[in-house]
Amino acid sequence: MASYDPDNIFAKILRGEIPSETVYEDDATLAFMDIMPRSDGHLLVIPKTPCRNTLDATPDQLCAVIKTVQKLALAAKSAFDADGVTIQQFNEAAGGQEVFHLHFHVLPRHEGLPLRPAGNMGDMAAIKAHAEKIRQAIA
Ligand code: AMP
Repeated sequence: MASYDPDNIFAKILRGEIPSETVYEDDATLAFMDIMPRSDGHLLVIPKTPCRNTLDATPDQLCAVIKTVQKLALAAKSAFDADGVTIQQFNEAAGGQEVFHLHFHVLPRHEGLPLRPAGNMGDMAAIKAHAEKIRQAIA
């Protein structure tokens, strides 16, 4: 497996070199909105320390991230009055991963409503409004 690339886009977000719409952070994790949302409220949770994905993450990194994933899944479900939540995580290019810093997708879902296609840039005003709804729903 390749080594961690400190110039990946999420590392740049962590260093504040490129902007992100943060919804939550603690000592070990950061949650921010996906800029190509596949459902309203689509957000990402990452560890603040480097690892490519689940395959090289430490147990501590995984524990911290999954605790934040649960917190944000509950908040996003409530914020969007969703019927369910899809949680996705991809490992290496063959596993569907495009950004090589561990991240979990959290996608609020409504009955009968399919995910939008991947790769379409979202409307930033809508994303900012969705982020605010999630922030307000975090217990
Ligand atoms: P994947 O590695 O396949 O899980 O996909 C990476 C995800 O990161 C995609 O859903 C992208 O829309 C998202 N993404 C890429 N660049 C940014 C960015 N600058 N801010 C927020 N999300 C991003």
